[in-house]
Amino acid sequence: MIEQEITLAEILLAREQRVAIQNELLSRHHAPVISFTMNIAGPVKVTGPSHRAFLWGCEQLRLGFAQNRLTVLEEQARCLPTGEEAYFAVDAPAEAVKALCVDIEEGSKGMGRLFDMDVIGLDGLKLERGVERPCIVCGKPGRDCASRRLHSVSELQSATAGRFAQGLKDLDGIRTASLATRALLEEVAVTPKPGLVDRANSGSHRDMDFSSFQASASALWPYWQSCFLWGWQDAHIHGLGQECLRSPVQTFAALRPLGRQAERNMLAATGGVNTHKGAIFTLGVLCGAIGRLWTEDKGFAEVQAILDEASAMTRETLEKELPAARWNTAGEGLYRKYGARGIRGEVADGLPSVRDVGIPTFRALLAQGVDRNHAAAVTLLHLIARVEDTNLLHRGGPKGAAWAKETAADLLEREPLPSLESISALDAEFIRRNLSPGGCADLLAATLFIDSIDNTTQKET
Ligand SMILES: [Zn+2]
Repeated sequence: MIEQEITLAEILLAREQRVAIQNELLSRHHAPVISFTMNIAGPVKVTGPSHRAFLWGCEQLRLGFAQNRLTVLEEQARCLPTGEEAYFAVDAPAEAVKALCVDIEEGSKGMGRLFDMDVIGLDGLKLERGVERPCIVCGKPGRDCASRRLHSVSELQSATAGRFAQGLKDLDGIRTASLATRALLEEVAVTPKPGLVDRANSGSHRDMDFSSFQASASALWPYWQSCFLWGWQDAHIHGLGQECLRSPVQTFAALRPLGRQAERNMLAATGGVNTHKGAIFTLGVLCGAIGRLWTEDKGFAEVQAILDEASAMTRETLEKELPAARWNTAGEGLYRKYGARGIRGEVADGLPSVRDVGIPTFRALLAQGVDRNHAAAVTLLHLIARVEDTNLLHRGGPKGAAWAKETAADLLEREPLPSLESISALDAEFIRRNLSPGGCADLLAATLFIDSIDNTTQKET
């Protein structure tokens, strides 16, 4: 986004053109017109954050039309240095359209104050708002501050920038948590999955079922948001100056107590069953990395940058810890016995299995028209065929783990797109051998999560 200063003449010209567009839409459709612009003080009218907030405001309007069953007859948009503009001719009474606009302006995470959603009625006049808007700087109601120029342009600018930063960060923190939760819920719902809990059966597990996973995924919601916010805070505002910002390694250290609290929340929700321990680690690091790299200008970073950041956060610590670890957890024991680094090694390396196997496989299948459930089930098979899964090692030893890998690879060789029946047959065989590829299930959840974060990024630009 190139930020550009503008002149008064440009503003006046843009205003004239706006009125012309409004009149043209009015006469073409004989319906009220929304004119949506941003309310931004100072000579620079379009910035990265204002652009993102504007797109979000347009999205809220479209959702509001759907919510209220309003038909849009025509939509236009212009992005000018004098500010972004969107127009909607709506087939509804002007009062109803105005009520929707006020609703969005009043909500919208504090950013709505910077939205000007004017509604022009059939008589060509702007509808009155009814409720007075508060001052952007001090919050006092009415136009008093503005008409008496009680605040300087720089005060107005910093209040505006603050509202954008806060509003967009809140939205993306919530979005991160929602997408992480969705990834966990979707992962457990994918059916059939060899040896794992799914909608058809509890796989090779006797202490947990489908509803344990739903309970656990619901309980973990606030944890993802916290990881995002901690990551953001460490990389942006810790201390007073640049030199006080926390390193990726420090962020990982700060996230670990949050992860342990999340594990206790999981145990409370499931009645003591370990459903999501691996996901708490993997997705927690990813949410922290997403937060660290998040900016109000661009929102979420590129996938590769997020995976690199996850590696930068964890590599040093995990490499130091794994060889020295005692037999506290199954994963550590397996490292001692077989040198298997498990999910920790994956995260330390920047999740190469997600990047090179999970995401490309899942996307290729979707692109072929395979439905999401089937695509995710086949993606899981590819992960099982390629990854050293410490859960398989734990239950089946090296022999069982090797058998699982080979069997998955054989099926993929026989049937490049295995049918759900073939995967169900594999499920029965895994259950008979008491094998459960829990590590691959975590990688599938990470794949679904990263895919959805990346889709959000692409949708916006
Ligand atoms: Zn004021």
